[in-house]
Amino acid sequence: MIVVKRGKEPNSLLEFRKKNPDADYEDMPSSVRADVREQMWNEQKHLCAYCMRRIDSPSVVRIEHCRPRHPKDEIVHDKKATLDFKWMLGVCYGNSLVKGVKTEDTTCDAHRKNKELTINPFDEVSVRKIKYKADGSIYSEDEEINKDVTDTLNLNCTAISLPQTRKKVLSEAQKRIVQKCAGKSQDAYVHELERTYTSLVQERNLTPYCGIIISWLEGKLKK
Ligand SMILES: [Zn+2]
Repeated sequence: MIVVKRGKEPNSLLEFRKKNPDADYEDMPSSVRADVREQMWNEQKHLCAYCMRRIDSPSVVRIEHCRPRHPKDEIVHDKKATLDFKWMLGVCYGNSLVKGVKTEDTTCDAHRKNKELTINPFDEVSVRKIKYKADGSIYSEDEEINKDVTDTLNLNCTAISLPQTRKKVLSEAQKRIVQKCAGKSQDAYVHELERTYTSLVQERNLTPYCGIIISWLEGKLKK
């Protein structure tokens, strides 16, 4: 999962909300949806907010509501909240476009449906509670967050090789760092770890599945 940093909502969404104070998410015109998709795609560095896979273009971004639009025990439907850009996430299709795909082989929003999440993708502290095992599988020591990532979002789905891909991404990053520091001091190695961490976390040069690299670096650098 990436830490999502949202900017100001697109102007077209602001205008639409102003002109249509009673509108619901379903009323949003396709041109406004396109603007929302494009801005999220850019802000999220072309990654799915949940599984961190690369999303090829804004047109294939799915608009996800971090807080379900229709929670299970909803009494009064909060239309305004469904159009609140700060709770929207750009996600992938979670393998749901494959004909006849089984639920257990889907991920992200496609697997989650309307379930509540404990994890807050907009909060760095919350997202950093996600950890990874040596085989690339995702987990958390926080029971609720563990449920979010392993069960609700199905982020250990093997049908699309999520753990295997993460493991490969980490081993490539480790190899790159070792090669870069070959023949140099331990200090140079630690410096390269720090530099990589800054690039990913502070400068947000996010790459597909880089969550596992960040988590490994935090362990190494005792962050
Ligand atoms: Zn995804």
